[in-house]
Amino acid sequence: MSTDPKPQLHPRTRAVHAGTRRSQYGEMAEALFMTQGFAYDTAEQAEARFINVGPDEFIYARYGNPTSRMFEDRIASLEGTEDAFATASGMAAVNGALMSMVKPGDHIVSSSALFGSCLYVLDLLAKFGVEISYVDGTDLDQWKAAIRPGTKAVFFESMSNPTLQIVDIAGVAKLAHAVGALVVADNVFATPTFSNAAEQGADVIIYSTTKHIDGAGRALGGVICGTRDFVRNVAEPYLKHTGAAISPFNAWLMLNGLTTMDLRVRAMADSALQVATALESLPQISKVIYPGLASHPQHTLAARQMGTGGTMIAADTGSKDAAFRAMNRLEVAKISNNLGDAKTIVTHPTTTTHQRLSEEARLALGITPGLLRISVGLEHPEDLIADLRQALAG
Ligand SMILES: *Cc1c(COP(=O)(O)O)cnc(C)c1O
Repeated sequence: MSTDPKPQLHPRTRAVHAGTRRSQYGEMAEALFMTQGFAYDTAEQAEARFINVGPDEFIYARYGNPTSRMFEDRIASLEGTEDAFATASGMAAVNGALMSMVKPGDHIVSSSALFGSCLYVLDLLAKFGVEISYVDGTDLDQWKAAIRPGTKAVFFESMSNPTLQIVDIAGVAKLAHAVGALVVADNVFATPTFSNAAEQGADVIIYSTTKHIDGAGRALGGVICGTRDFVRNVAEPYLKHTGAAISPFNAWLMLNGLTTMDLRVRAMADSALQVATALESLPQISKVIYPGLASHPQHTLAARQMGTGGTMIAADTGSKDAAFRAMNRLEVAKISNNLGDAKTIVTHPTTTTHQRLSEEARLALGITPGLLRISVGLEHPEDLIADLRQALAG
């Protein structure tokens, strides 16, 4: 049976208890139901379940599984949406949410500052006859000009990768809702803790749970949060028939990840502000991009929308050589391309995550050859600052 705490309890309390389902054994820790199928008492019961699945009934893990459902219920509670569907990766969630809602001839308006794989999905939709208009996500006038009667959906990363541009969710939602378009937010960088996306007007909120929700860089996962009608009647049929389901084991990791996420991301964001402040005073860094700093052009919007600058920083070292030299001298932070991990990760977007883009496209997005992306982890901030300082001084 599912045991949901009262919705008025604080998110930290719901992160510990929401969505828990206990078997007849009353186990304290959430059980890992590592099963694809479910046995029926009778043939009649199987027949009945295929006609109508009850809230505590399951048919096949591609459709749903008790451990996956615990994770879905917990994140929906935290996000403030009616329901959620967990997927094998963040990209399965992006693809599933967008693909399931459109047909040829539909129109989507999207921010152009997107993760490469998200751009790939939009190109795929265009190939099947969906019209895509790209805008500068930070410019409400461009959204206004592009959104038109009949626009099906708007799509954006609420904080963009890697240059940390913030999209005004409430502002875009107002324009989109005026024509009946759905607001789809890839909210990975904001994390469910700092999200408020549903409150601001987002209809569909997507996470790569691979990032802060797992929080230890162990497993891939994704999730689509939204109304029960969207999640179960629009997204789920597409996801379950095309095989996007999360593994129950990964859902179990994510479920446990949510329990500590609030504490982790708050500590990471506190450290990120300290690291960003320290970087701003270093002569080797020409520019620090961190929404928590007054120097960020959307500092006020970030504070209003998320109440924090988040856990990610971008810093310009001036050149690829300087960036590589600093990365190769790091002793605590690791060179990798994940984010939201307990371990601080430094990435060089130009040569890795955004290598596929042309130089011109990269520069248009602010991805300069010397830019480093820093995902601040759970180490002591003084150790991180000392590490970056010595690496950059070299
Ligand atoms: C990582 C990421 C994704 C994709 O998630 P996967 O779990 O790697 O499939 C999508 N959007 C953003 C903003 C991301 O950072």
